[in-house]
Amino acid sequence: MFLKSLIRLKNTLSFRLTLWYAGIFTVSSLAIFIVLYVLLVSAIQRRTDESLLEETEELSLLLATTGVDQIMLYFSFESSLDGGDKIFFRLLKPNGEVVASSDMKFWKDVKVEKNVLAQMNEPTSRILKTETIKGMRYPVRIIYNATGTGLVVQVAKSLEDDIRFFESLRYIFSSLFIVLLAISSVVGWFMARRALLGVEKITETAIEISSGSLEKRVAESGRGEELDRLALAFNNMIDRIQALMKEMSDMTDNIAHDLRSPITKIRGAAEVTLTTGKSLGEFQAMASNTIEESDRLIGMINTMLDISEFEAGAGQFSVEKIDVPQLMESACDLFQPVAENKEINLALNLHADCYVQGDLQSLQRMAANLLDNALKYTPCGGSVEVACHCENGRVVISVSDNGIGISEEELPHIFKRFYRCDRSRSELGDGLGLSLAQAIAQAHGGHIAATSQLSVGSTFSVSLPNASGSL
Ligand code: ADP
Repeated sequence: MFLKSLIRLKNTLSFRLTLWYAGIFTVSSLAIFIVLYVLLVSAIQRRTDESLLEETEELSLLLATTGVDQIMLYFSFESSLDGGDKIFFRLLKPNGEVVASSDMKFWKDVKVEKNVLAQMNEPTSRILKTETIKGMRYPVRIIYNATGTGLVVQVAKSLEDDIRFFESLRYIFSSLFIVLLAISSVVGWFMARRALLGVEKITETAIEISSGSLEKRVAESGRGEELDRLALAFNNMIDRIQALMKEMSDMTDNIAHDLRSPITKIRGAAEVTLTTGKSLGEFQAMASNTIEESDRLIGMINTMLDISEFEAGAGQFSVEKIDVPQLMESACDLFQPVAENKEINLALNLHADCYVQGDLQSLQRMAANLLDNALKYTPCGGSVEVACHCENGRVVISVSDNGIGISEEELPHIFKRFYRCDRSRSELGDGLGLSLAQAIAQAHGGHIAATSQLSVGSTFSVSLPNASGSL
């Protein structure tokens, strides 16, 4: 159990972030400590060498001005100052014979190195070296310095104090390092947890949503951080899903409603004919009524499928260069009899040289739907204008009428599937024409918009990418 939660913890992002944070912190602080340590050690070593050099230079000066007796006094005074076990002085002849020395009680094992003396042939020769002396715990720094009088001064200093200082420096640095490592791990863990709190909130909300609470949303801090943007995108996505679900449920209701009426009609007609029908003519009428209603149903289902295909970009789509004014003119020709029937003035205002790339049949269907609506929702004696022009790299087609118009409340809904305004229910229709027109326009990289005023009229505008320049 404990092992399992440990493995789970190991796999968490918080843990890995903490590890990274602590790792980076460890490496960088270690590097700083090492550099600091090396600098301090070399500074102290330099200082030790300088003090040895000073000692030998002072001795050379003393030797040049006074005699060996004075030197002996100096030796014992200086070695008693530092401690006889910390420093010793010796005055040597080039053959290694000792002329004078401080108390050598602690330094019996320090030999006179003849090979070193042999190298001291210049009046300014000096050799510095570190040696480990048998029986002594700490190494010794030794200097041989020619005095210019033919004698060589040898001064040796124990490195005990320096090494003890380095040891305590290492101890301080490692304790400091452990403390900093612990602090950095805690701070890293805290920061990682804090940063991931937002992600956890989103996860929790996602879990709640997946268990059915689609109205849940992630609280945004409003500070505009990355996680806030994620929360905003997440909330927008859920809004969209919720709207789609609502749309789907409305559509299912509408489909059920729209399918029920013709099916009930077909069933009623069949029942009446079956119970009361006597002649062949009555049965034939019932059959033709059934065919008519079935055709309407099939047409509606096909349109729904077409809309879905256009929306999914999966429709049968041949792409060719289409002369839009010509297309609109042919569509108007087709609807001219309907217009004449209702004494509607169908006017054209088509600018030449407006081309789009697209599927001719689909665009014809789009134009037909807009024209059909304009003529259907314009009372007898009204007027409809079909226009087309190019503007800012787009081809704009518009169909305007002075018909019944659409109210402000209903206007935002007219492109929804099966939506029909209250005032138009007396007319034949299934509420799919504008959805199809919109899906076709969007599948061609365009969009459709409507402006309308109740009892004044409506204008539907389609904007498509202009293809005048393409082949
Ligand atoms: P329908 O088959 O009902 O015409 P559409 O999808 O083509 O379906 O149109 C949706 C609704 O938009 C119509 O029912 C009608 O209320 C309204 N509408 C569309 N075009 C016009 C127009 N030119 N004038 C007034 N209302 C319109």
